[in-house]
This record gives sequence, structure tokens and C-alpha cells, in this order.
Amino acid sequence: MPMDALPVASKVRVTAIPGDGIGPEVMRATQQVLAAAGARVEWEEAVAGAEAFRKGIASGAPQETLESIARTGVVLKGPLETPVGHGEKSANVTLRKVFEMYGNIRPVRELPGIRTPFSGRGIDFVVVRENVEDLYAGIEHMQTPGVAQCLKLITEVGCERIARLAACLAVAEGRRKVTVSTKANIMKLTEGMMKRVGEQVLAEYPELVHEHMIVDNCAHQMVIRPEQFDVVVMTNMNGDILSDLAAGLVGGLGVAPSANLGDECAMFEAVHGSAPAIAGKGVANPTALLLSAVMMLRHIGDFDTAARIEHALYVTLEEGRDLTGDIAPEGEGAPTAAYVERVIANLGRESDRVPQRAYRPIALKKWPQITWYKAATTRELVGVDVFVESERDPRAIGITLQAAAEGSAFTLKMISSRGTQVWPEAAGHTFLVDHFRARFLFREPPKGDAVAEITDLLTRIGRQHRWMHLEKLQRFDGADAYTKAQGEG
Ligand code: NAP
Repeated sequence: MPMDALPVASKVRVTAIPGDGIGPEVMRATQQVLAAAGARVEWEEAVAGAEAFRKGIASGAPQETLESIARTGVVLKGPLETPVGHGEKSANVTLRKVFEMYGNIRPVRELPGIRTPFSGRGIDFVVVRENVEDLYAGIEHMQTPGVAQCLKLITEVGCERIARLAACLAVAEGRRKVTVSTKANIMKLTEGMMKRVGEQVLAEYPELVHEHMIVDNCAHQMVIRPEQFDVVVMTNMNGDILSDLAAGLVGGLGVAPSANLGDECAMFEAVHGSAPAIAGKGVANPTALLLSAVMMLRHIGDFDTAARIEHALYVTLEEGRDLTGDIAPEGEGAPTAAYVERVIANLGRESDRVPQRAYRPIALKKWPQITWYKAATTRELVGVDVFVESERDPRAIGITLQAAAEGSAFTLKMISSRGTQVWPEAAGHTFLVDHFRARFLFREPPKGDAVAEITDLLTRIGRQHRWMHLEKLQRFDGADAYTKAQGEG
């Protein structure tokens, strides 16, 4: 939870996780600048990532690290390597999820002295990305030997939290507009929920203008006219992709900071990874972690030190001397140490090229620690979707499934292949794979044991086909709680 202005002379304990690759180098550089600027921070060093994986900790985050974070509630973190394909989880995702850091904040601001094709356009916006739901819940199954599924879970409370965070951040930074960007036109229940709930929440903030933009157009607009954005809020996957696109507009990953916010904990980190190719060479650019630390100082209420460091950084970039290789205007880049010295030497100087914002604490709603539950006044069970594996053609499958349903409580309504109806009529020239969804509706509303009826249907289907997945078709408060297949009448 963001704190109010820090009382003079008090220090805040912060967990520092140097991380992997260039992590320790950029962490040291950042800590040096914070110390020189008089930041009122006391560090608790902790381990996560490759070192933890080497010790056999599959989550990538040792217990002592989790305890340190639980104690301090504030983390500055270097990049952590994610092993690819050995069953280990991403340590980054572990930390975000364990501490329910549901809001990812990615400021996108033109930096002085960093030339990009967009320089001079005055880009200055913030991407607010939902950080714990969506496809990143990582609930995946192979449904057949050749067909994989990943569940996209979106909750109303998750949408409300992130939309409220976007609104509170806009207010705290004196911003005027919030864009809710979704793929609601296609995913009407999941992305549609983000649109609907986002618009409801933002309507509570009359001081803010709000709009909805389809996410693919948002990607286009970010490139065509990025200066139109102020705050953009998105579900996890869309936000992941578009926030990297946005970082590219203003100089790339080496200068992109981020924050992960939750009720109990906040973690600040550079957007970039461990850059193994340049690790240990003393040439990594610490700007992204330093700007993340600036966000952290504002979070703990040390607004003055945050502004001092930000100005020193801007002046250094404007001067263009001792910049690291990735951002040096021409010729050879300077070592990390020389860049840090230059920033420290510039502490106390002010840049007049960058418009200043009047940052205030983010007045975030604290969510009660209870299980969130949304009731419905009426619930009807109208049928089931049963997913089957079959190498037969839809007509043959239709005949066998109709026969299976004969004498049961259900009738076969339709069969689809990857979302498009292929039986009783084909909606197009669908390429067929061995994975079908069969939609069965109750002939009449179930009066007795609906579960027994479903079990009976599954037994009948199982005599002819492998089935691997079932979804109930429900109506909540009179509205269908499922979508139709493409081409379904
Ligand atoms: P990356 O580490 O960000 O590196 C991509 C390239 O960007 C580097 O090779 C380097 O380019 C440049 N770069 C990034 N940060 C830089 C900096 N501070 N200073 C100078 N140049 C910088 O991305 P990746 O290679 O895809 O990922 C490497 C590892 O990091 C993976 O294990 C990945 O899982 C992990 N990762 C962690 C996080 C995180 O902890 N939040 C985020 C992303 C990736 P040149 O080679 O051209 O110099």
C-alpha cells in the first residue's frame, strides 16, 4: 500500500534482490546513486532466480526471501533468469503471485538525450497492466496429443482492482484520461468484463475522461499517435505486449522502469532481463533500475529524493557524456561506473527540458482479506459442452453423438471445431483437427439430479469417443453465461 509522505529522519527497510546476469551490476549502481542522494532507505539483501534454482528451489524464491519481503513490503529487484522448459516456475511470476501484486505500472516517457524515431512528440503515458490473472494463471492442459489449451481466467474483482488502480494513479499524477483497451469484440465474456467493469469504475471519477479502444487498434495508435495516451489499462497478456511496444517508443528496455503493486507489497524492477551477453563486463545501463528506484522512493513517500535523482538523470542524459553503450549518441559507450559517477555529480542540478509532474501518494483502495464471492439471484443449468477427440468427420461424429444422446436427458445442439460450427451445418471451410466441442442442451429443465444426468451422458459418449473436458452451460440472472460458436444459430 503506498505510504504518505515519509517523516523526516525515518528510514524505510527495503528488500534488495540483485538478481542474475547484469542484475548485481545495475543494483550496485542504483544503490550508489540512492546513497549519494540521501535516500532514506535501509537495504535487506535477498536472493531469487538462478541461485535459488541451482539450490533446487523450484519456485525460484527461497523462504528467507519471501520472509524478508513479507517484513518490508517493499522490494527493489534486478532481473531474474527464467529457465526454459524444466518445470521450474518463473521466479518473477512467483513473487508477483505470492504477494498478489496485481498492478503492473509501466511509465512511458520521452527521455532527454535519447534519440528515437518518436523524439519530440512529447510521449508521456503510463501502461497499467493487470498482473496476476488472464492466461498467466498458467492453467494449461494437452487436450489431445496434438491440441493444447490454456485457460483465460478473468474476474470482476480483478478488473475492478486494476481499473481503480489506473484511476487512482491518474489522479495522483494529475493525468486527465484513462483508456481501457480490450479485445471485447472477440472475447465477449473475458475481455468484455474488463471493458464493462473498467467503464463502470471510471464513471465514478468525473474528473477523468475515459474511453475504450480495441487493443489491436491501440497497438496501432501507440505507433501512429502515441502522444494521445495518458493512462492505458489492460488485462495481463495485452498489457504485457503493449507495454513492451510502448517501451520501444521511448528508448527501449534499457531505460524502461516498472512497479508491481499490491495491497501488502510493492516491487520495483527494470523491464529488461539479465542480458547475459554483457553480464560482468561493467557496461550495463542502470537507468531502468534507477528509474524504478525513483518510483519506489515516491511509493515510500520520499518525493524530494525521487525528484533529485530524476533531475540528475535527465541532466546527465541531456549532456550526453559518459552514457553507456546502448544509449551513447555515437562512438564507444562509457562503463557503468563512469555513468553512475556522472549522475551522482549532477545531483542537485535541475533539468528544464522535462515537464515536471506534481506527484502525490496513490490513494489506493485496500481490499478486504476475505474470499471474494459474487452471488446470482437465479441460476439455471441448460446443458453441457463436452469436448471429444475424434478422427472422424463431423457428420459421422454428429450421428454417433445423436445416437449417444438418445434416451438421455439431452439433445445434441451443435458441434464446433476450434470455435466454428461444423455440425449440423458447417459455417465455413473449416480445417478439421481431432478436437471437437459437442453442445448438448437439456430437453427440459432438469428437475431431479442433474449431475446424474450429466454422468449418464458422459458414459454414453465414452462408449464411442474419448472425451477430455466438460463445461456446464449456465444462465445467471437470466443471462447466458456462455458464448455461441461461430455460425451457431
Ligand atoms: P534482456 O535480458 O532484456 O536482453 C535483451 C538485450 O537487451 C540484451 O542482450 C542487451 O542488448 C539489451 N539490454 C537489456 N538490458 C540492458 C541494459 N540494462 N543495459 C544495456 N543493454 C541492455 O532479454 P532476454 O535476452 O530476452 O532475457 C534474458 C534473461 O532475462 C532470460 O532468462 C529472461 O527470462 C530474463 N528476463 C527477466 C526479466 C525480469 O526479471 N523482470 C525480464 C525479462 C527477461 P545487446 O546484447 O544488444 O547489448
